[in-house]
Formats: sequence, structure tokens, C-alpha cells
Amino acid sequence: MRNLTNKITSILLGFISIVYMGCSSDDSSENNGSDLEASKLDLNQFRQDGVGVMMQAFYWDVEPIGGWYDEINSKIADWSSTGVNRIWLPAPGKGQSGRLSMGYDPADYFDVGQLDQHGTIETRFGSKAELESLIQKAHDSKIEVVADIVISHNSGGATEANPLRPGDTQAYTLFDEQNGNASGKFNRNYNHFHPNDFHPTDGYEENPFFAKTDLCHDQKYVQDWLWGRDDSVAEFYKNELKFDGWRFDYVKSFDPKWVKAWNDKVGGFSVGENFDGNAQTLKDWVDASGSTAFDFACFYKLDETLDRNNNLTALGENDNMLRKIYPDKAVTFTANHDTEKDPNTDNNISFRNKMIAYAYILTHDGYPTLFYNDYENDSFKDILKNLVLIHNTIAIGDVEILKVDVDEYIMKRAGSGANPGLIFYINISNQEKKTSVTSNWLGKKVVDYANNSKNTLTTDSAGKVTLEAPPRGFTIWSLAKQ
Ligand code: ZN
Ligand code: ZN
Repeated sequence: MRNLTNKITSILLGFISIVYMGCSSDDSSENNGSDLEASKLDLNQFRQDGVGVMMQAFYWDVEPIGGWYDEINSKIADWSSTGVNRIWLPAPGKGQSGRLSMGYDPADYFDVGQLDQHGTIETRFGSKAELESLIQKAHDSKIEVVADIVISHNSGGATEANPLRPGDTQAYTLFDEQNGNASGKFNRNYNHFHPNDFHPTDGYEENPFFAKTDLCHDQKYVQDWLWGRDDSVAEFYKNELKFDGWRFDYVKSFDPKWVKAWNDKVGGFSVGENFDGNAQTLKDWVDASGSTAFDFACFYKLDETLDRNNNLTALGENDNMLRKIYPDKAVTFTANHDTEKDPNTDNNISFRNKMIAYAYILTHDGYPTLFYNDYENDSFKDILKNLVLIHNTIAIGDVEILKVDVDEYIMKRAGSGANPGLIFYINISNQEKKTSVTSNWLGKKVVDYANNSKNTLTTDSAGKVTLEAPPRGFTIWSLAKQ
């Protein structure tokens, strides 16, 4: 009975669609879901080596405590099939808060879950062996592993007499085998922090939570232990733990030349957290460090246009994101462990707009990041898998904005050779929108690979086509099977 009903429905739909085509001036036809799927090209033919997305593989206060590396290990196969080519892990070293530490209060860089100190052997994320097993698993799936590198400040040492801080016994600057640094590697004292015998400060801002334990990178001893020696932190993470890349925390706190020095020594992928919405500030940091940077300017523009102003025009302005200035140096994102830390503040892109924001970063240039909590959310996962497929295949070629106004934004990726590229259409009004644009596709059938329109459209001999986008949503058009 159900089959018969479906059959009648599909005959009726077919009839309606023929009538509609016959009397409609724009050449479109409606598909049911399976017809739409059948009319699409298999995008996998456009996959390219080295094109993928990064997964931020943690959120603030991950659980289970002590079991996080194993939790991630169980996800690697799925992430790899989705098209993730890098995972960003939390800072691996032992922090002052022991089993509760998220890694941003580093005490012993060489204790990655194997020494008994700060109340625990394992870190919040697991043991050294579990970390090594996770990295091996990722490498077996052709995924690189990025370590969070926290070298702006330290935490968890003991107090000591400091002639440069007379009368102030509250600076915890002594790190040795008995005081928070059981590895005995990179033991530290007050002279390795600010103020010291070289200078009172390096002139860069201090993390307010760790102002008295702001590391001094001008001290040769600190440089040697962080990256210079053959048994430095950087060499240990690269050669023994097999990390492939680095995410530098809180880079506003020190000279970008230290990031350059680290990368010159050990190489690999590198991205800096310069928490700043000014694209020029991000560009200056990229110029000085040689590293890529998280595109906070892009993040804030998406939050501003979608959440705050309900006005897309800023997306069309020049040079207001790092990716518009240096697409190859911009790591784009829509959420991270900080922006989503407190759900009661609006430092984040709302759930209502999150998929539009992901569609933006996954169709434009820049290297996109998926946030763990978004991808591992059942209401987002299938949408994100599809957007990553689109990113890894047809989101290539020059970026050209075809239209931008208060409630519509239309952008074309030109494609390359046999790769057809795409046209991305955002509509934030409450009505369906249609706009005539000129595509690169001449006399071709096109469909929406985001599955938000069921219509097959046909471009004219000059490439013109009237595209459409649903209310408060988006479409991503590219060639159908002809
Ligand atoms: Zn200094
Ligand atoms: Zn917001």
C-alpha cells in the first residue's frame, strides 16, 4: 500500500513538474530526494591530495577525565572518512591543576602523563602511552596531529626569594624536581620570568591570570630548552611523540620571532592564536612570524553579520578578514573551546546560524577548522560531512562575490580545468530569494549540493541562471549530470 501511494505521489509530482516547466519562464524542475541524489556528480572524482580540514579535537573541560585520548582514538576512522586531514589536540604537558588541567597552566612540558606529580600520573587527557597510540592511529589514517603549545607563561612552581621582587613572595617561579617539574628538564627560576636580570618586561601583554610567571624568551636558557637543544620541548614533541604541527597559544604575550625560531628548528604546520578581530593586526603577526593564524577577524565578522546586525553587507567589504588578505595564511573557524566555554555569553555564533557560518568557511578560501562539539552533534553531523566533501572537492578557484546586500550574499568559486567550482548563496530573510547571476557554466543543468533546494536549474548559453535560496538558509550550486 505504501509503495503504491509513493508511486501515485511520484506520478503526480512528475505531472505537476511538467506542467510547471511548461508555463514557467525560468527553466527549473523539481526533483524528489532520490532523483536529486541521482542527478548529482560524484564529487569524490575531484578530491585532491593535501586538501582537507582541521578538527579541534577538544572542548573546555573535556570528559571523561583521564580518558580523552582514547575517546578521540575511537573517532579517527570516521573523521578520516569525512575528510579531516589534521587534528588539534590539547597541550600535552602536566599542568598545575593536575587531572583537572586543560593544559593552559603548564608546569612540566616533559611529563605528558607518565610522572607522578600535581596529584596524578595521567593528565586530564590520559597517559603518555595513550597519547602515542592516538598519534599512531591518526598517522595510519593519514591525519597529522597538531600540539597546543603554551609557552607564554607557566604555573605550578614554588615561591622563592627574588631580588627583583623585594618583599613579594607570591611569585611561583621555582620549578625543579621537587617543585612541580619532576622530569628535571627545563628547571626554571625567577630569572626565566619577568622581571629578570635582562629586562623588566618584553613589552608584550601578559596573560592576566599568570602575570608573575610570564616566560622570558630572550633568555638563551629558555630558548634552548623550548626549541634549541636536541632534547628541547619542540624536539621531544616532534621526534619522540611524533607530533606534526603546532598551535601556539596566546601569541599576544611574546614576540612573533619566537614562533619563527621554533618553526625554523623543527618545521611542520603552524598556527597562532592571536585573539584579535582586526585583520591588519593578524596580517602583521603573520608577516613577523611566518606562521598561519586563526582568522579571528572572519569569526567576528560572521558573528556580527549573522547574529548581531542581521546584515550581510560587511561580508562584501575588502580586507576585513585575514582570509581576504592572505587566504593561504588564514585558518578559519566558527567556534572553539574559548568561544563556547560559557553558553550564557554571546561570544559565539548561535546554533541558529552555525550551519550558515560553516557553509561560509567551507566554501571560501582559507583552511577551515571543525569544532568537536559541532561535528559530534547529531543535528549537525551529516550537514558538516557534506560541507566538508564540498570543501575538499569543488571549493576551489578564484573567489568572486556576485551579490551582497542586507539579506543576500552570493559568491562564486571559479573551479579549475574539469573542476566546475561552485556558487554559494546565503539568504537571511524570512522569504525564499531568487537572483539572476552569471555562472561559468554555459547551457548546463545545475543542482544544489547542500540539499536545500530540490530544483534542477539550467543555465543559458551565456551562463545566466536564476538561483534560489530558502528562508534563513543557503544553497551551494554546481554542475549536475547533464
Ligand atoms: Zn623577556
Ligand atoms: Zn553571536
